[in-house]
Amino acid sequence: MGAMNTKVIEAEYDYVKPASLDEALDILAEKENVKIYAGGTDLLVKLKMGADLGMDIMMDINGIEDLYGVDKTADGGLRIGAAEKIWNLETNADVIAMYPILSEAMHLMASVSVRNMATIGGNFCNASPVADTVGPCMCYGACVELKSKKGVRTVDATEFFLKPGVTVMEADEILTAIILPAPEENTGAAFTKMARVRPDIAKVSISCVIKRDGDAIKDCRMAMGSVAPKPLFLGDISAELAGKKMSAALIEETAQKVHDFVKPIGDHGTTAEYRKEMAHLIAKEILEKAWENSGGELA
Ligand SMILES: Cc1cc2nc3c(=O)[nH]c(=O)nc-3n(C[C@H](O)[C@H](O)[C@H](O)COP(=O)(O)OP(=O)(O)OC[C@H]3O[C@@H](n4cnc5c(N)ncnc54)[C@H](O)[C@@H]3O)c2cc1C
Repeated sequence: MGAMNTKVIEAEYDYVKPASLDEALDILAEKENVKIYAGGTDLLVKLKMGADLGMDIMMDINGIEDLYGVDKTADGGLRIGAAEKIWNLETNADVIAMYPILSEAMHLMASVSVRNMATIGGNFCNASPVADTVGPCMCYGACVELKSKKGVRTVDATEFFLKPGVTVMEADEILTAIILPAPEENTGAAFTKMARVRPDIAKVSISCVIKRDGDAIKDCRMAMGSVAPKPLFLGDISAELAGKKMSAALIEETAQKVHDFVKPIGDHGTTAEYRKEMAHLIAKEILEKAWENSGGELA
């Protein structure tokens, strides 16, 4: 039996719990070294491991009303509040109906108890290359909404990540929402995650959304986890498929391109070669599945 994790957090910091988004933005604008606490499932783990986060103030954003809600947007998409818990989202009827692989990816994350605490905003802002909600969001064309005292801006999810733990977010900003565009007709999606055991973090993961036009691909978007220093949007490889007639040969050719393109590292008992081989295999699998889910048939 493994030892119980009773390690005490040694870091010293102040704790604040603003009641409103305005108050939270004031704190971020006025104070230095503020770290946001959402579900704490990444933050507290890092603190327990003794990581030096340079945190003088922990700002708890739980309960800030403006950070919650799953609401239809004017153009028929969905706006998901950053502090929404993974568990609430994976079971949300709109998320399941409109963005099925986002719900699926969340369902495959961690355990129910972790998913009850973890938030979608935290999954993005932790900026791990394995973050499971990111690939589906990139493939569905999501934007992140960032707010500060200076105003609001939206950033395409594919441009949000810079390197492990680092995003384009400024120190005075909060991620307030993930905004997804309206789903289109004849769209199919697929998600696959290879992990040691089901709730574990991904050794490699892949997401794909295909929009079909008859027997041709109108648009395709693919993204991968755990094969690069950040969640990887396969923009060029995906874009090359637009307008092409779908076939088994095209899928094989694309899977080979994915294999050749990714440059994973070996870690946690998984070799780079394994990740590359798996990338080929699962790219093929999700292209077939997404096509099938779009109502397409393979010649
Ligand atoms: C046992 C275990 C298993 C896990 N398995 C998985 C898995 O399978 N897949 C996966 O992807 N992840 C997994 N995780 C990681 C983690 O649960 C997720 O990344 C989760 O979504 C983080 O959300 P949180 O609300 O707990 O973030 P927190 O820990 O509260 O925050 C994470 C980071 O984001 C920042 N932050 C949070 N919210 C905001 C915001 N709104 N604006 C600005 N900054 C913000 C924080 O300051 C911090 O730097 C696992 C964690 C554990 C402990």
